[in-house]
Amino acid sequence: MKKKWLFTPGPTPIPPEALLAMAQPIDYHRSDAAVALIKDVLEKLKHVFQTENDVLFLTSSGTGAMEGAVANLLSRGDKVIVIRSGKFGERWSEICTAYGIEVIPIDVTWGNSVEPQAVETLLVQHPDVRAVFATLCETSTGALHDIEALACLTRVRPTLLVVDAVSALGADDLQMDNWGVDVVVSCSQKGLMTPPGLAFVALNQRAWDAIERSDLPKYYFDFRKAYESGLEGSVPYTPAITLLTALQCALDRICVEGIRRTIDRHNLLASATRSAVKALGLPLFAASPANTLTSIRLPTEIDGKAFVNLMRDTYGITYAGGQSQLSGKIVRIAHLGCMNENDVIVAISAFERGLVEIGYDIPVGAGVTAAQEIFAR
Ligand code: PMP
Repeated sequence: MKKKWLFTPGPTPIPPEALLAMAQPIDYHRSDAAVALIKDVLEKLKHVFQTENDVLFLTSSGTGAMEGAVANLLSRGDKVIVIRSGKFGERWSEICTAYGIEVIPIDVTWGNSVEPQAVETLLVQHPDVRAVFATLCETSTGALHDIEALACLTRVRPTLLVVDAVSALGADDLQMDNWGVDVVVSCSQKGLMTPPGLAFVALNQRAWDAIERSDLPKYYFDFRKAYESGLEGSVPYTPAITLLTALQCALDRICVEGIRRTIDRHNLLASATRSAVKALGLPLFAASPANTLTSIRLPTEIDGKAFVNLMRDTYGITYAGGQSQLSGKIVRIAHLGCMNENDVIVAISAFERGLVEIGYDIPVGAGVTAAQEIFAR
């Protein structure tokens, strides 16, 4: 019997009660029920973003929130620093360029994380830089960036720190208020265990001051409109109301577990996965791996694309392959969102089985044993 397992860094599995919520008759988005739903969701998001700032939501995927951040925070002629250590750092740079913003890139070898010192050097050389655009977990490589260290540099300068936490929110720690991060963007289909289609932005006062000055064109993603409506449990345009009902269930799960314990759980699952991969004799791709996903560098004799296809088509196990320059070279196993120890055991045991099937010699069972040892501690 074929059974499907989803180990991609988005979308991630949806909790059953969220699936059921989406099957209920839809509400009018200006009804009292919808107003209460929106207010509740926005309040609970603050817990996940670890902030007292208001959070706003958009009907889009995560990239919409990224584009909105650029269009709302910046003005014509602005200069920004963009950390590019993979596909999503590059996306910040592409969006800024599309809006005519001058980009000073910091190119980091894929798999590595930025050295905060490199950012500091550029900030000193270019004191007029308006913002630093960073990524908490660079999903294309699995690398975690030291956002706390970057915030130490920006919070003492008139420079905003804008963080893409699209994949890592709820999995890797990001203490927006404690660290002094100005803007955090995320979306529904990853750590928040909800289907794709909602994006979120949390902004502090420094960010709102920049928004007041911004003269870049914007309409659908105008943060002021989204924010002002959100305060009243309203929306400027028809929202993905069905997804909001699912999100409410998913947020309830996180709020009951508590964000600190949610992050700890992801840390445990990531540690077990890394330990398993090492026990199989395979190298991790990221130098500082995130809790969100584990990237595994495949030996050159393995065709990564064929392996991912085999696992999906034969075993119903979906891992993510490599993107762009890493296509066919890495496998990415997410342990993200609605996952526990048993999911990791499935992911690892299937991984071992797949490697055996393609004729790659591994110590079968060593990965599962290593993961179990981590869980037993
Ligand atoms: N940033 C990161 C770090 C991501 O992982 C993704 C999605 N994989 C995005 C941005 C883009 O999000 P979306 O596909 O929802 O637009």
